[in-house]
Amino acid sequence: MFKAVNPRQNFPQMEEDILKLWQDKGVFKKSIENRRDGKRFTLYEGPPTANGRPGIHHVLSRVFKDVIPRYKVMKGYYAPRIGGWDTHGLPVELEVEKELGFTSKNDIEKYGIAEFNARCRSSVFKYVSEWNKLTERIAYWVDLDNAYITMDNNYIESDWWALKQMWDKGLVYQGHRVTPHCPRCGTSLSSHEVAQGYKDNTEDPSVFVKFEITKESLAKAGLAKKWAYPADKPLYLLAWTTTPWTLPANTALAVSAADQYAILDMTDYYMILAKPRLSALKLAENPVAGECLGNDLSGLFYKPLFDPREFGIPVRNMQDNSETGVSEELLYPVITTSYVSMDDGTGIVHTAPAYGELDYESGVKYGLKFLHHVDLQGRITGSYPFAGKFVKEADKDISRNLKERGLMFRNERMHHTYPFCWRCDSPLIYYAKQSWYIRTTAVRDELIKGNQQINWYPEHIKDGRFGDWLENNIDWAFSRERYWGTPVPIWRCEKCGRTECVGGIDELKAKPNFKGMQEKLDIHRPYVDEWTYDCDKCGGNMKRVTEVMDCWYDSGAMPVAQYHYPFESESRSIAKDGRFPADYICEAVDQTRGWFYSLHAISTLIFNRPCYQNVICLGHILDERGEKMSKSRNNVIQPATVLDKYGADAVRWYFYTAAPPGNARRFSEKLVGEVTRQFLLMLWNVYSFFVTYANIDSFTPSEKYLEGEVPELDRWILSELNQLVLDVDKGLDNYDPTQAGRRIEDFVGYLSNWYVRRSRRRFWKSENDADKLSAYQALYTCLVTLSRLLAPFTPFVAEELYQNLVLSADPSALESVHLTDFPVADTALIDEQLDNEIRLVMKVSSMGRSARSKAALKVRQPLAEVMVVLASAGERTGLMRLAEQVLEELNVKALAVEEPGTVIPEKNYAASTEGAYTVAVYTGLSEELLAEGTAREIVHRLQTMRKSAEFEIADYINTHYQADEYLDSVIRMHSEYIRKETLSNRLIKGNAPEGAYAESLDIDGHSLSLWVAR
Ligand SMILES: [Zn+2]
Ligand SMILES: [Zn+2]
Repeated sequence: MFKAVNPRQNFPQMEEDILKLWQDKGVFKKSIENRRDGKRFTLYEGPPTANGRPGIHHVLSRVFKDVIPRYKVMKGYYAPRIGGWDTHGLPVELEVEKELGFTSKNDIEKYGIAEFNARCRSSVFKYVSEWNKLTERIAYWVDLDNAYITMDNNYIESDWWALKQMWDKGLVYQGHRVTPHCPRCGTSLSSHEVAQGYKDNTEDPSVFVKFEITKESLAKAGLAKKWAYPADKPLYLLAWTTTPWTLPANTALAVSAADQYAILDMTDYYMILAKPRLSALKLAENPVAGECLGNDLSGLFYKPLFDPREFGIPVRNMQDNSETGVSEELLYPVITTSYVSMDDGTGIVHTAPAYGELDYESGVKYGLKFLHHVDLQGRITGSYPFAGKFVKEADKDISRNLKERGLMFRNERMHHTYPFCWRCDSPLIYYAKQSWYIRTTAVRDELIKGNQQINWYPEHIKDGRFGDWLENNIDWAFSRERYWGTPVPIWRCEKCGRTECVGGIDELKAKPNFKGMQEKLDIHRPYVDEWTYDCDKCGGNMKRVTEVMDCWYDSGAMPVAQYHYPFESESRSIAKDGRFPADYICEAVDQTRGWFYSLHAISTLIFNRPCYQNVICLGHILDERGEKMSKSRNNVIQPATVLDKYGADAVRWYFYTAAPPGNARRFSEKLVGEVTRQFLLMLWNVYSFFVTYANIDSFTPSEKYLEGEVPELDRWILSELNQLVLDVDKGLDNYDPTQAGRRIEDFVGYLSNWYVRRSRRRFWKSENDADKLSAYQALYTCLVTLSRLLAPFTPFVAEELYQNLVLSADPSALESVHLTDFPVADTALIDEQLDNEIRLVMKVSSMGRSARSKAALKVRQPLAEVMVVLASAGERTGLMRLAEQVLEELNVKALAVEEPGTVIPEKNYAASTEGAYTVAVYTGLSEELLAEGTAREIVHRLQTMRKSAEFEIADYINTHYQADEYLDSVIRMHSEYIRKETLSNRLIKGNAPEGAYAESLDIDGHSLSLWVAR
């Protein structure tokens, strides 16, 4: 006997029970240990940060991380999965700053780095219990007890070792250049961080500013040959910018040598700009006083908008980057460069070497002056009237100031895409300063080559998003001027300036006169800042540089750092025993510039090979209407809400099957509810149906299948089942859970809507003959195989089926479905021709039903004929062979198969067409057909009454009736049929005995009273 199945199962409750079962029996551990002799399968866990609550997108990536290793384990692989936590960096610091109400780095320094970092350390696991609970609840099987933690000393030591490898290859350097800088966080960001923070449609100023050309330079420049300058009015160059705050640092204007420039007569003054820009700027009407090439403008000088000497801003020369003081008159040149566009602006580009990458390059090339009038907090320095203001606020003051001085030509606003800090949301500024870099550009070709060895799902990421990112690689600015992170392991001599990278703690301790290390090792600031030793060359004091590392470096180094490689002797075999590279990683698509990149970069830099072989790259989650989920839209869904209502299997199944992994997917409670109804409940109903009847008939499953002829319906469902096993195996092997899941969905549809429905009578009949036994055995085989096919996808319901169907019948079986092997198809049972024929019958039946409903004909009303037009003549034999099924399904008396292309007459036919197929039913009804339809209606009503009277399915009854003349004649004519269908021993005209269940009905205007009694 199987355990009775509740047809109205509460899935979340069932899942809680199964979680307990797994826990009690240690199933996860066993599933790994049992496979110790198998080939290793390695998943790298992209570490989340546990200082925030897990969201629904974490559920998405976790269930996709889960499905593949579960499958691999069932295929015999040894697949320990180690969890991980990302614990360093801005995300953590920012939360602590918020708690303490800090607004700048100053606050932190005043508070004390030791105390600040202690708070960071204790905050990183703030929500870890929620993470653990969720991870367990959704059945993401991963070892959290032995998770790697990026702030651990051992982890950091491996980070250091990795950097030292790069240092030794000459791939680490300090550079003075323009980097994206967050003024609030006071640190540089890497290009992959910047890539995560672009916002479209950001409003900014759009100003056109006049720079006055000096008369002295005019006489010498090429322009003098082209245009005789009437000395009565001033002459300006017109330049455009969206960052007015950078204007005080302007030291050059760039033009395009080969393009035409126009000199406009503006009545009170002359103004130069590119000729191709005139009409776009609505200046085409102005009289042109002269024309020249951009090249003719080089050699001109202009007056500074703000003379730095007046505002206390030091002036440097770009070549040597040293302070020179200013003796000569400050005149800035017009230069010719290749980056001047004729698509926007004025064709004259404002150049401030301190605040733009291209500007900086021009500064070096032309030996421009270099001015910093903004500090690292983004505030204006010097004695400007707008000094002390944040740059974005100073924009207005600077514009007003220029306007008052008649130097503002136009002052507008515009919308464009602008980068913001991915953590704190401040607008980034581009800022020239010293930073530490990893020379990733030196291995660009290797990065690109290695990428070709990685299997991306979806495939287009390889040469698209990820490939493009690698093509446009720039050196990795990996240092952060912050506090809570892996300290950059570079020591500098205070005397001679020599720098050294240290690759481990023992190496450091062995340095001459090493001192300052505390008893309890903590490789963090401020402790590590105290560790000093003597310089090899000059005996000076070696002190660590102050920066910490980008936290993306931490997570990118996990292939080695999680094992404390190479310090632990057992870690040195990772490349031999299958722990490196990973077989599989999975995260959302934004990680192409985050973790996917940092992993790939570090692995290529150290080992010159990729560290992962297969990646599922997930699309984002949207709300029900396809909009991004965000707090401000108030459409964020808490995982617990959906899990409590529908359970984890429903959420998992929805994520796997709703859209291919790479697509964006909508998510809502309602959508998960639909999946529950369409798939899980359908499966559950089949399961419940089976158990109900198997128990009535005391069916015992046996290994041995039926001898002799197997009924066709059973042969068919077993053929489909074995084809399904092939397809699901292939889908999961190809990292395509969506395709695999959808196939299972199709199969459960066939099983429920065709196999079980058409087999019902076989289970209902009273004799236990070979046909019935075959039906039980076939359905049992399907359900047990499904439980194993589903185990990687919906581990709970799979376990429930297995426990009841397998373990209850055979206590010696493995104690969990997750310890069993993945099903292997018996290809001898696959009969493609039969599958095609039945699929055609299903298609014709479903089209026939839609034709019926077009004519508003009740399903129970028999019809005279169905006419079928097939796509090919070859399909005819199969359909005719199974004609009986079509007649039954459509409740028609005759089937006519027409030649492909036949046109069906419109009169008296209702048709449904799909491609080359047409199915049409004859709509005319004879007296006999009408009477038969009525008899079927009466059967239907009686069956409903049996249910309402709460009779058991197998109970035999007596039925009494009173009817008008018409219904009485129909009942007499079809009494045999009605009795059989309703399990009525007798069908008696006249009132029933007391206690019978009674209903009075109206059938198409005829009245009928019915009584049923056991
Ligand atoms: Zn920031
Ligand atoms: Zn030295």
